[in-house]
Amino acid sequence: MSFDFLVIGSGISGLVTSFWLKKRGLDVCVFEKEKEVGGSIKTVKKDGFLVELGPNTVLDNTPYLKEIVETLNIEDSLIYAKKINKKRYIFKDGRLIPLPSNPFNFFFSPIFSLKSKLKIFKEPFIERAEKEETIAEFARRRLGEEVLNFAVGPFVSGVYAGDPERLSVQWATKKIYALEKNYGSLIKGAIAKRKGPSPSKGLFSFKNGLFELVENLKNFNGNIYLETEAEEIIPLNGKYKVIGKRNDKKIEIETKGVVITGDSISQWKILKKLDESCPLNDIPYAGVVILGIGYKGGDVGHKLDGFGFLIPQIYGKKLLGCLFSSSLFDGRAPYGYVLLTCFLGGALHQEVLNLKEDEILNYTLNELNPILDIKGSPAFYLMKKWERAIPQYNIGHRKYIEWRKNFYEKFKNIYISGNILDGISVADCITNSTELAKNILNNLSI
Ligand SMILES: Cc1cc2nc3c(=O)[nH]c(=O)nc-3n(C[C@H](O)[C@H](O)[C@H](O)COP(=O)(O)OP(=O)(O)OC[C@H]3O[C@@H](n4cnc5c(N)ncnc54)[C@H](O)[C@@H]3O)c2cc1C
Repeated sequence: MSFDFLVIGSGISGLVTSFWLKKRGLDVCVFEKEKEVGGSIKTVKKDGFLVELGPNTVLDNTPYLKEIVETLNIEDSLIYAKKINKKRYIFKDGRLIPLPSNPFNFFFSPIFSLKSKLKIFKEPFIERAEKEETIAEFARRRLGEEVLNFAVGPFVSGVYAGDPERLSVQWATKKIYALEKNYGSLIKGAIAKRKGPSPSKGLFSFKNGLFELVENLKNFNGNIYLETEAEEIIPLNGKYKVIGKRNDKKIEIETKGVVITGDSISQWKILKKLDESCPLNDIPYAGVVILGIGYKGGDVGHKLDGFGFLIPQIYGKKLLGCLFSSSLFDGRAPYGYVLLTCFLGGALHQEVLNLKEDEILNYTLNELNPILDIKGSPAFYLMKKWERAIPQYNIGHRKYIEWRKNFYEKFKNIYISGNILDGISVADCITNSTELAKNILNNLSI
């Protein structure tokens, strides 16, 4: 068999790359080792609830979503989170307090002390860092310990399930790092950015959950080999032979080029056969447990009038936060019920992954009940443990980027993609995979 291009992995990254290549007329094939497409995107419908066991909401800051959705003819299914999502709660001393949504609110917020509020005035005058910093070092230096603990840390937990003392500000939060680099200050940068058009239209999903997007991408591509694991790429007269395994049978294809997605170990297994110095197996991951819980509406005392809440790491809790899923999008819970989506574990609490399902459920209910004033028992729950959920762009991440640069010097038309190096959000994956496809098409002069 021969194809113009092979994409390894049918998560959002692989499917978006293959979408653009196919749209421009290339004969593209996708290998997916699992029984279903989607990778981390896992929407489950059960008992009238719609639970996202992977990503829940995606920030629409990618310029490419519109064309993808239009081409797939699913504009009518694209939904944006209700305005209520702007209200985000933070857990402090046993209760939920809304995070300030603008600078004015910040100065009146009971979350922060007067000392922290005054420190913000000094932020524009703080020098740039001279070395690569962790997110914690960066936030402490520019904003102070309290803002790190009650705003930056929980944000890092919500996005990366990560440890701010290890994540690199330069690689994990590129846009924030760029504000300091380009404007010398977060405040000056934020003001300058406000003058331009807003890069984001809000948080999106689809009526049938995020799986609706990947399912339509799958149908558009057509050429998807499920339960087919790519194992080796062998250079062959300016092209490549890719060897894989399908239902325990060997499969071989010839192709002009390969895009590799998937977690870092899966990529490393293939790449180390081409370059034994491949370091991708060193990339650390945070494991996460996602727990969707449904209640009768009347059993939850809290109004659930927001996006959800985050718990600062300083409280040492295994529960990182909770989304008010049925408040964000319609159709997530049956009439009269609400759906909450909790996430637990992360880089600081990997021990959760070793607990049994009922232990995790009981622990979560004990935490959740007083916070949200819950009286009854859950009407429904669904859980998924992700041992390797999110790659952590910690200090030292540069070494992987540099290795890839050298690799590209040696091997033309093999591309290392997915969420392991350039961005972990679904929107980042869509943007990066689109730009990768454009790059491939340019290189092929199509
Ligand atoms: C629990 C969780 C919650 C998240 N929440 C959010 C959120 O709310 N918002 C957000 O924007 N992002 C979120 N993310 C991050 C985001 O979902 C992921 O970064 C993104 O979906 C990754 O897509 P991907 O295609 O790069 O990789 P993946 O989704 O991991 O897909 C890779 C695919 O490659 C396949 N594969 C691997 N190796 C091979 C091989 N050798 N041969 C064939 N197939 C192979 C795998 O089976 C998999 O299907 C979350 C992630 C997780 C895990």
